[in-house]
Amino acid sequence: MAMEMNVQRELFDEVMVPCYSPMEMIPVKGEGSSLWDQEGNQYIDFAGGIAVSCLGHCHPAMVNALTEQGQKLWHLSNVMTNEPALRLAKKLTDLCFADKVFFANSGAEANEAALKLARRYAADVFGPEKSQIIAFKQGFHGRTFFTVTVGGQAAYSDGFGPKPGDIIHLDYNDVDALRAHISDRTCAIMMEPLQGEGGIIPPTAEFVQTVRELCDKHNALLIFDEVQTGNGRTGEFYAYQGLGITPDILSTAKSLGGGFPIGAMLTTNKLAEHFKVGTHGSTYGGNPLACAVAEAVIDVVSQPQTLAGVKEREALFRQGLEAINNKYHIFSEIRGKGLLLGAALNEQWQGKARDVLVAAGKQGLMVLVAGANVVRFTPSLVITPQEIAEGLARLDKAIATLVE
Ligand SMILES: *Cc1c(COP(=O)(O)O)cnc(C)c1O
Repeated sequence: MAMEMNVQRELFDEVMVPCYSPMEMIPVKGEGSSLWDQEGNQYIDFAGGIAVSCLGHCHPAMVNALTEQGQKLWHLSNVMTNEPALRLAKKLTDLCFADKVFFANSGAEANEAALKLARRYAADVFGPEKSQIIAFKQGFHGRTFFTVTVGGQAAYSDGFGPKPGDIIHLDYNDVDALRAHISDRTCAIMMEPLQGEGGIIPPTAEFVQTVRELCDKHNALLIFDEVQTGNGRTGEFYAYQGLGITPDILSTAKSLGGGFPIGAMLTTNKLAEHFKVGTHGSTYGGNPLACAVAEAVIDVVSQPQTLAGVKEREALFRQGLEAINNKYHIFSEIRGKGLLLGAALNEQWQGKARDVLVAAGKQGLMVLVAGANVVRFTPSLVITPQEIAEGLARLDKAIATLVE
């Protein structure tokens, strides 16, 4: 029986496929931006489940939506539609450029749908030669074979046999390389409007403008992967809304469900009609339970005061991190936008992001890394100023233990 089983970290090594290396402690409870482990130790959560727990843990709006819908209807399949999915789709299209929604269960699946739609549209309208996909080095788009191949890290896509073809990778923010490689054979450009996993790399204004112009010139679609940046993370509902350009297809997941698995691909009427009955699908995509939770999440996140609050919290993080840096001289730069922030380590600290993460854990603080040289912060969008102050105080103590 479940209650009798003594669950310890060692059990992970015994029964789990070893593609992760989780921390020793096992969290058992969360509330707001606090987590508690099996021993009752409390942690401040600046990681937010990797930009997912946008309302913190067990926010009443999510718990209510989950329990209410959980007593009504969980699943139907797409043989039938359902009220929460239609309400959520309506609200998402009202919040951005899109007219149409395809629901999936994760970011990778939302991107898979985006890429398949782009390829299908180009094949239908321009013919089969128009299949080239341009993506960017250090980009991350998920772990299905198509999305990991479009992602810009060969280490994640090598070793699985023949890859989906006609995909090239350029340097992010390199306008000249883009001009040199794009052509009428280009089907789509896929990019993050701020690279997350790749090290919190913001795009230059020139780069985003040029990407849009060149896509228009060559009839290529612009796919924005907003899986990490979306749903209020940067202080806009979607990050593109702060960049002055509009994509043709947008993928969203992570914060969309606030911790309940859901993803979505958003697009225009013109493109959507190329997904006919049977062209694409998902058993769970758009199931009532996930959509009810996501609806509750976006109702809170899309409020102007929530989005304004993200910018206020960004300022608190930046001030606190600058103060830590004045004391220990560890960061070369604080970058990112809203509550998708990266503290890049300076020369003397190269390769030590993981050491900071481990030291923070010992002081009761969860942070993330983005590569070996960037400490990443993706907390709840409604984290309280007190929780921010306490977390930063713990980060200060953690860094002190690393400085001799
Ligand atoms: C996390 C992430 C994904 C993958 O999402 P999953 O839900 O893990 O499949 C895709 N793109 C970006 C930008 C991400 O940050």
